[in-house]
Amino acid sequence: MTYDAIVVGGGFAGLSAAVRLTKRGVRVLVLEARGRLGGRATSFEDRETGEPVDNGQHVLLGCYTDTWAFLGEIGALGHVRLDPALAVTMIDRTGQRTRLSCPSLPPPLHLVAGVMDWSALAWRDRLSILRMRAPLRLARRQMQPGARAIAASPGETVDNWLIRNGQTARLREMLWEPLAMAALNQPPSRAAAPPFARVLAEMFGPDPKAAAIALPTRPLGDMYAEPARAYIEARGGAVRTGAPAVVHLREGRVGWVESGADRWDSAAVVAAVPWFALGDLFQGDTAPLEPILARARAAEASPIVTVNLWFDRPLFDEPFIGLPGRAMQWAFDQRSIVGGALSHVSLVSSGASPLVARTNTDLIEHAHQELLDALPTARRVRRLRATVIREPRATFSLAPGQPERPGVSTPVHGLHLAGDWIATGLPATIESAVRSGHAAADAISGHLVIESSGH
Ligand SMILES: Cc1cc2nc3c(=O)[nH]c(=O)nc-3n(C[C@H](O)[C@H](O)[C@H](O)COP(=O)(O)OP(=O)(O)OC[C@H]3O[C@@H](n4cnc5c(N)ncnc54)[C@H](O)[C@@H]3O)c2cc1C
Repeated sequence: MTYDAIVVGGGFAGLSAAVRLTKRGVRVLVLEARGRLGGRATSFEDRETGEPVDNGQHVLLGCYTDTWAFLGEIGALGHVRLDPALAVTMIDRTGQRTRLSCPSLPPPLHLVAGVMDWSALAWRDRLSILRMRAPLRLARRQMQPGARAIAASPGETVDNWLIRNGQTARLREMLWEPLAMAALNQPPSRAAAPPFARVLAEMFGPDPKAAAIALPTRPLGDMYAEPARAYIEARGGAVRTGAPAVVHLREGRVGWVESGADRWDSAAVVAAVPWFALGDLFQGDTAPLEPILARARAAEASPIVTVNLWFDRPLFDEPFIGLPGRAMQWAFDQRSIVGGALSHVSLVSSGASPLVARTNTDLIEHAHQELLDALPTARRVRRLRATVIREPRATFSLAPGQPERPGVSTPVHGLHLAGDWIATGLPATIESAVRSGHAAADAISGHLVIESSGH
């Protein structure tokens, strides 16, 4: 079999690149090292309950424009439920339960109106949101091509940026910190401000729906990975799992790609592997790639810990609740999100460096206790089962001083990169992965057209 393009890596980046190439009539082979597709956004069967479980709850936002286009192309838009606007229930450290609900007004008025009406806050805290209008406007302007506006400097942390812009401690704890932890997977005291400003600029753009939260209604494998596989295979491409690849480079170009006993020559390769796997992907003349490989080696990671608890009865009647100020920052009720017979709550700790080395028993008891503190009625409910999922390299670090992220093009002829760590301006998210996948596919399809018209 010969293929026009080979995509290495079957996560959001690789699959979105492969789907866009397939749409353009390019014959694609996807090689995924693991036994299942999805990479860091995947699902597997729980050993005891047989229930499909995600490797961690994934939340999408209305502003994930490329992700929506990808899901639309593979016929999977119905596998995600998008709220009409931003609305979240929060239970603070004292157990006070309140709801932030942003009305359908032109942005950023919807956020301002939502915060002004939020009973979790004193008036001083509510009014401080007005001070964010100017930095948000700057961040929006910064997105324009060739813009010189700078909303936040690369050396300042999210905390510094928010304090500089007059955000009170209570508003930071209740709104900005949970948002930053979810979007950046790093505490605001550690993460650099520019990617956060970029997320806010995209969330609070002209469409109020851009800030709305969307949750997959199917396990991640069924939500996008298998539909993407079906799309590619129905159009003459192939997707192989359990197929770790090696890309051989010679004389500044891609020589061939190998997986096990198979070997392919290909005009174009997309390396859609995470930064921490890039170093092992190439053999041969890797010297032209050395500056990129050095940056990949130097990039640090930030973990996510998920504790799954199964109960004999439902604990709350909303899809998710925020638990600001606690180690487990969000609780998701899987039964109301994806269905299922049992009450299954996923508690998520982002930026989980302080937790990742603790034992399973300790993590389970800690997560359960935090849930009981927030929801005292949960004391009457019996826990049936508990599991822990650690993703030590869930995302790359956004701390100031981390290496610069590469673009999709490389100095090696025929080789493009994709993945959430590509320089999209966004943090390590599904949307960053898909944008990079689309950008790599666009670059390659232009190149393949030029090559074939040159024959
Ligand atoms: C627990 C958790 C929760 C998250 N929550 C959210 C969220 O709520 N919202 C959000 O937007 N983002 C979230 N993220 C981040 C999101 O999952 C990632 O940004 C995204 O999935 C990255 O996709 P990717 O394709 O760039 O990389 P990956 O998903 O890592 O895919 C790369 C693939 O390459 C494969 N590979 C590596 N080496 C080789 C090789 N030599 N040959 C063949 N294949 C190879 C790997 O096995 C992997 O499958 C979360 C991440 C985690 C871990």
